[in-house]
Amino acid sequence: MARVLIIEDNPANMLLMAYLLKAFGHEPLEASSDRRGLELAAEAEPQIILCDLQLPGLDGYEIAHRLKVDVHLKSVPLIAVTAYAMVGDREKALAAGFDGYIAKPINPETFVGEIENFLHSSTNSQST
Ligand code: MN
Repeated sequence: MARVLIIEDNPANMLLMAYLLKAFGHEPLEASSDRRGLELAAEAEPQIILCDLQLPGLDGYEIAHRLKVDVHLKSVPLIAVTAYAMVGDREKALAAGFDGYIAKPINPETFVGEIENFLHSSTNSQST
């Protein structure tokens, strides 16, 4: 079971991601704004953070910057979730500090497995 912070302003995407995570025994923490996302990141000790790139207010790149300069949060895996499925966006997200990338639309058959892979790979890299 993992606590998964989801920063996403689209209600349908939030509903789907939270539903799938709960169905597989995880605990989603839902933040529909940049401000709430940064609050929960600091207060709720998430084990992984999913962040939409296109948010009103701070966009995902700015949120990534703020999380990755925070000594307590920089080691928490940060995954971009975005409809920008263009060539180069993955590289742009990784350059901005994201540890991984999931493209929308969310695929219900693979979504939770992808999140679990990110969790396991970060655990492995910390132990070596
Ligand atoms: Mn959005």
